Amino acid sequence: MKTPFVTKDQLESIAAQYPTPFHIYDERGIRENARRLRAAFAWNPGFREYFAVKATPTPAILKILHEEGCGCDCSSLAELVLAERCGVSGEEVMFSSNNTTGEEFQAACRLGGIVNLDDITLIDTLVNAVGKVPEKICCRFNPGGVFTLGESRDGVQVMDTPGDAKYGMTRPQIAQSFLRLKDLGVQEFGIHAFLASNTLSNEYYPALARILFRLAAELQEETGCRVTFINLSGGVGVPYRPEEPENDIAVIGEGVRRAYEEILVPAGMDGVALYTELGRYMLAPYGHLVTRAIHEKHIYKEYIGVDACACNLMRPAMYGAYHHITVMGKEDAPCDHRYDVAGSLCENNDKFAVDRMLPKIDMGDLLVIYDTGAHGFSMGYNYNGKLRSAELLLREDGSVELIRRAETLEDYFATLVW
Ligand SMILES: *Cc1c(COP(=O)(O)O)cnc(C)c1O
Repeated sequence: MKTPFVTKDQLESIAAQYPTPFHIYDERGIRENARRLRAAFAWNPGFREYFAVKATPTPAILKILHEEGCGCDCSSLAELVLAERCGVSGEEVMFSSNNTTGEEFQAACRLGGIVNLDDITLIDTLVNAVGKVPEKICCRFNPGGVFTLGESRDGVQVMDTPGDAKYGMTRPQIAQSFLRLKDLGVQEFGIHAFLASNTLSNEYYPALARILFRLAAELQEETGCRVTFINLSGGVGVPYRPEEPENDIAVIGEGVRRAYEEILVPAGMDGVALYTELGRYMLAPYGHLVTRAIHEKHIYKEYIGVDACACNLMRPAMYGAYHHITVMGKEDAPCDHRYDVAGSLCENNDKFAVDRMLPKIDMGDLLVIYDTGAHGFSMGYNYNGKLRSAELLLREDGSVELIRRAETLEDYFATLVW
């Protein structure tokens, strides 16, 4: 069962001030979750979460996470500048980009961030742009092939195909990169890999950790480069469907600790710091997209038109992703109506739900769409002249703050040449 972090009465009074649709975030949930993550990795003194800024690039959110000890994982110039303006710089910035430009490397190095190199050819791009290499650097590894987990819990499978992914370096390339970077003056090395997305298994991070820990020990042995940190990246998922199992971050942290003690400690590498770059896990459950039913249509199927559309939340249209929906005030009513819940784009994939069993929806009903705190607002776009919505923050004291205003027509027209 999923329950909203706001009540219907709260939402009605919020909507009286800030018209729907809007995204709203739960400060309490964000902080409690960030503290659970920190506790799970407290055994590793150098541990740091670098929040994947692309998931929710909103200053109020980045500042809350920074207060909870998180840095920023940036992947573009705009995200670097955003981090800087939120007071996050130096080694609290990780720059994990791909297809990177010299300008972006300059910005990352100006901030003193840790550069995570996606490809061996980017060593030249970096040196040409910045004039030298930083003392501390990370290289992204891609093992190729197919990644699967032996164990599955509750029938949940983890399967992904790094061999088809554009990211990272091959095994020979990463060793070559280390040697070249050492010659150029790098003192401290790290490795990074992202092998599977939105995993619902407590075994994902430990399995990834084993791969990276073994690789770190091998690379240190082969190249003489000192590996001081390992970046487990993102990929810890959230149960978008109410029946899916939830990850237990304490179990995950403990699984990674066992791998650390089995592999890194015997290799004499027990000072190695662990980093994570979680986005979805940090924020998705702590955001709702709130929208109102404005139209009903009875043709070959039953449609409910809402005032949000795929421009506010692209995941269902783009990936066919499931997002759970609650019709506010009808939590206990029987789900005896089958609806497609649609936006107003001239695109037939603009549906938040297809053939979803829900209580009878009346015009004016408020709908909460769950798990939109990450990769929700941030993937928004302006197709069909749709304006980006506001973002609101439910503070721990129950007050509501506007943390990004809704776009206006003038914003939309601002870049036009008439
Ligand atoms: C997107 C991304 C993340 C975050 O992924 P989540 O699935 O949101 O945890 C972390 N690191 C990199 C390099 C990414 O591209």
